[in-house]
Order: sequence, then C-alpha cells, then structure tokens
Amino acid sequence: MFASVSLWLQLGQLAMLMKLYRESTLDPLTGLTNRRVLMKRLDKEIAQANAFFILMFDLDKFKRVNDTYGHLNGDLVLVAMANIIKKEIRAKDIVARFGGEEFVAVLSGVSADEAALTAERIRASCEAATITTNNGLSIKVTTSIGVTMHQLSDVLEITFNRADELLYQAKREGRNKVVCG
Ligand code: GH3
Ligand code: MG
Ligand code: MG
Repeated sequence: MFASVSLWLQLGQLAMLMKLYRESTLDPLTGLTNRRVLMKRLDKEIAQANAFFILMFDLDKFKRVNDTYGHLNGDLVLVAMANIIKKEIRAKDIVARFGGEEFVAVLSGVSADEAALTAERIRASCEAATITTNNGLSIKVTTSIGVTMHQLSDVLEITFNRADELLYQAKREGRNKVVCG
C-alpha cells in the first residue's frame, strides 16, 4: 500500500517535471522550439560539428492580418505557418519560433542550392495556403526569407545578423521573396 502511494507520488512529480521542461523549451502557441533553446543548441551541438544554413522567416504585413481578422485568428495563422515549415523540412532539421511572427529553420548537410530550394518551397507553400478561421473566413499570408550559411569558424551572432539583413532586403524588394547570401 505504502509502496504504491509512493510510486504514485513519484509519477506525479515526474509528470510535473516533464510539464515544466516542455513549458520552458517549447513555444506554447506553435509547439516549436523556442528561441532560447535554439540558440543554446546551435552554440553547443551543431556549431561544434558542422556547417549549416539558417533560414530566417518573417511574415509579411502581419500586423494587417491581426487588424483585419483579430489577434486569435492571427494566432491560427502562426500555427499554420509552423506546420508549413515543418512539412517542407526533414525530421532532423530544427525549426524554432524566433519571435512574434518570425521563425528560424536550421538545415545541416545540404548544399547552398538545396537550402535555397527549400526556402523557395516554403515561400511558395505559404503563398498557396489558405487558412480558414472558425467563423469561415479565408486568410492568405506570405513570408519573406533570408538564407545564409554558418561555418565552423563563424560567430553565430554575425550569421544571424546577416540572415536578418537578407530578410530585410527581401522586404525592401517587395516581400514574398527569398534572398540568399
Ligand atoms: P513586415 O512585412 O514589414 O514584416 O510587416 P509586419 O506588419 O509583419 O511587421 P511588424 O513587425 O510591424 O508587425 C508584426 C506583428 O506581429 C505585430 C504584432 O502584433 C504581431 N504579433 C507578434 N506576435 C504575435 C502573436 O503571438 N500573435 C499574433 N496574433 N500576432 C503577433
Ligand atoms: Mg517581424
Ligand atoms: Mg512581419
């Protein structure tokens, strides 16, 4: 009797710890890795082993989506975008919610052409998608994407700044666009 009560309490504690772990590592809305964990993983694991490509996404005119359809429907679009990205990358790639309507994907073991093609596939898939709200409205959204490579000797912060600059170049050049550099 005492043993089973003790086991029950321990299982409860384990479940609680697992819940805390999920909450501190995952973005609650999309279920993607959060920014803090992404940067830690890149610092520790991948940065020591490989070169990799960063795809940085920012949804276009997303403020307008919120203004037109409401914040809750905006949230639906963010979840849909997370799923679009996940669908177009491999299971071993990392995808994270980097900020409000910003996402980052990390591809390793691919060529520059393959990274660019993946980004282009995600851009096209986002453009083609229609998100249907609970009250039957159809929302369309596009994304701009910056793509760049990180090598062993590079500083992660500089790689991310470069991805950000390429992303803003895509914005300046009309949005719904991939810029690689
Ligand atoms: P741009 O094409 O230049 O990126 O235009 P934008 O409107 O997307 O840019 P801006 O950065 O001005 O707006 C981002 C918007 O994203 C504003 C903010 O309300 C919205 N946002 C950020 N986080 C969330 C969220 O978790 N849910 C929802 N619904 N909206 C969010
Ligand atoms: Mg933004
Ligand atoms: Mg935006």
